[in-house]
Amino acid sequence: MLYDITRRVSPATAVWPGDTPYQAAPALQLAAGDNVNLLTLTLSPHTGTHADAYYHYTTDGAHPEAMPLAAYLGRARVVTVTKAAGPLLPADFAGVDLRGGERLLIHSPVSHLPDDRWPETFPYLSVALIEHLAALDYRLIGLDSPSVDAFHSQDLPCHHALRQHGLVNLECLCLHAVPDGDYELIALPLKLAAACGSPVRAVLRPLS
Ligand SMILES: [Zn+2]
Repeated sequence: MLYDITRRVSPATAVWPGDTPYQAAPALQLAAGDNVNLLTLTLSPHTGTHADAYYHYTTDGAHPEAMPLAAYLGRARVVTVTKAAGPLLPADFAGVDLRGGERLLIHSPVSHLPDDRWPETFPYLSVALIEHLAALDYRLIGLDSPSVDAFHSQDLPCHHALRQHGLVNLECLCLHAVPDGDYELIALPLKLAAACGSPVRAVLRPLS
């Protein structure tokens, strides 16, 4: 049994305002007498469910090929929050035991929007929560929101705090069908050089 927690990528997939929409243009077509169908894809590395690379916000940061692969693979804890906007603080998880989770996937109301709807508001991380999770030896934080920082943030404190603590992140997850609990996460970025992030196929497998 697998939970697919990935947004569907199509030309209708919502992207960050101003970012490049996904396109698949035919280069060769069986219907036109060519021997194969061959497409040329145009997309932002931040299309749909994706992993940010440190290079996204730091000039000397790692590209996807050099991001720590093991962080994207292993035990993960899914936790639902009711907050639909604003920073997520340690107090928002006051009733949750976060110890031993290793990776935290935060299920907010954003997961319930369709793939083609951009969230007008969304919850995001706080440096306090990142420091709290880093102290508990977390390696990854995943959101259904399109950013770990506020929409209008210019200095991106949460992105930088993740890198400073050696954590990685996933964005635009879709967790609406997943009950809270512990799972095995598999969400590997592509081995892309000179990119600022990578789409992932993110799945959860129940722990046996
Ligand atoms: Zn991103």
